[in-house]
Formats: sequence, structure tokens, C-alpha cells
Amino acid sequence: QTEAPVLAVNNIEVVYDEVIQVLRGVSIEVPQGKIVTLLGPNGAGKSTTLKAISGLLKTEDGEVTRGDIHFMGQRIDTAHAEEIVRGGIFQVMEGRRIVEDMTVIENLKLGAYTRSDNEVAADIEMVFDYFPRLKERTGLAGYLSGGEQQMLAIGRALMARPRMILLDEPSMGLSPLLVKEVFAIIEKINREQGITMLLVEQNANYALKAAHYGYIMESGKIVLDGTREQLLNNEDVKEFYLGGG
Ligand code: ATP
Repeated sequence: QTEAPVLAVNNIEVVYDEVIQVLRGVSIEVPQGKIVTLLGPNGAGKSTTLKAISGLLKTEDGEVTRGDIHFMGQRIDTAHAEEIVRGGIFQVMEGRRIVEDMTVIENLKLGAYTRSDNEVAADIEMVFDYFPRLKERTGLAGYLSGGEQQMLAIGRALMARPRMILLDEPSMGLSPLLVKEVFAIIEKINREQGITMLLVEQNANYALKAAHYGYIMESGKIVLDGTREQLLNNEDVKEFYLGGG
């Protein structure tokens, strides 16, 4: 990629519990305002890569043992998760992780915990503009459908007013119709808010259509990368990731 990256992951290795090496020299660049996708099979190390960026690795006894990560010119692989959120990166975790015994609005307010301005109420309305069906759900978040919980998790990320969102498998557990809807909203948020996104997916069809650039990870290494068009036209990608043809 030619543009100067806003996020640069440089040759990182990650080890869990001091012995289990999961990433073996991973480099990824994400340009300002773009959607970049990270694809690959189960267990390849995609979630681990996102957690290395967001600082959440440390809560799972994981460590970046080699390489470095820079966001907007600042080194972040040594920073704490909360500093990284304040610095503008917000991760939407796999499995959504909303607080089930709080309401939609309470969950959204949680996303704004690092902010001290008075525009939280206005931003809740902004989230409801993107996800109108959330506005109708006044009960506890635990009663939301899987798709609605995914929407709430993305909405909560927006409440942090991030520069960059890390999305871990937003399509997981959703019906094809909802996957389509969620991806359309992700693209709309990127377009309208200019938020840079790194999108981890197993659903390569949707992810590549949304993304400007993609990386393919297998067994802790990047095995292929390219523009959307390059990857969509690559024979291996077609065979192994796009369901043949
Ligand atoms: P998935 O789609 O299944 O989440 P992934 O590509 O995101 O796959 P990771 O979740 O990053 O893969 O996992 C990569 C490897 O690291 C797997 O072998 C997994 O068992 C291991 N792993 C993940 N988290 C931990 C942990 N907290 N402690 C030890 N090993 C872990």
C-alpha cells in the first residue's frame, strides 16, 4: 500500500503463557480512513492480532515478544488498554460482549466512559440513526437478538468517538440477511464518519467487498495480501476463501 499508514503493525510475535507462540512475525498496515480486512481460518491468530493492537492481550497472559505497533506515529504495543482507547482505538470483541443486565442506553453510555464532553446524548441519537431498531428496544440488552447485540456492540464503539475501530467477526452467528445489513452499516459508518477500520472475518465474501485492502493469515503468519480486486481475483483466495468458482 502506498499511503502512509495510521496503524502499522511491524513484524510482531505474540506468545501466550510465556511458551505458546501464536504470531510469528506479522506486519499489517492500515491507511487513514480505510477498511482493511484480516482473513483466515479458525485459530490462525486473527483475534490475537487485534488484541495485540488494543492492548487486551495482557489480560489473557499474552505478550508481544518481538516487533512493534505504531498508531499515528506513537508506539502502542507497550501501552495499557485504557491508554489505547483514549488514543483513539476501540475494539469490538468477538461474541459481542455487551452487558446483558443493562439497557441499550446504559450499554451505549459505557462506550463513552473515556469522554468528558457533554455530547453523549447527541451521540446516542447518532447511534440510533445508524441502528434505528436499537431505539425501539427499551428492555435489557440480554433480550436483544444476536444481530441487535452486534449492532449494540458497534454502537458502543462509536460512543467512544474512536479514530479507529477493530472489529472481530461481526458476522458471527448472524443470518445472511443480517450479515448483509450489518456490513452495509459498517461501510456507511466508514464513509460518513471517516473512521479507519481493521476487520477480522471468516466470511471473506462480505469482508472483501467492504474492504479496500486485505491480508490473509494462516498459522500465525501473513501468507498473502493485496487490494480488494487482487484478492477477489486470486485463484487461491477464490478456491479456499470465496467458496470455489
Ligand atoms: P478464531 O476465529 O477461532 O477466533 P483466530 O484466527 O482469531 O481464530 P486466535 O483466537 O487468535 O485465532 O487464536 C490463535 C491461537 O492462539 C489458537 O491456537 C488459540 O488456541 C491460541 N490462543 C488464543 N487465546 C489464547 C490464550 N488466552 N491462551 C493461550 N492460547 C490462546
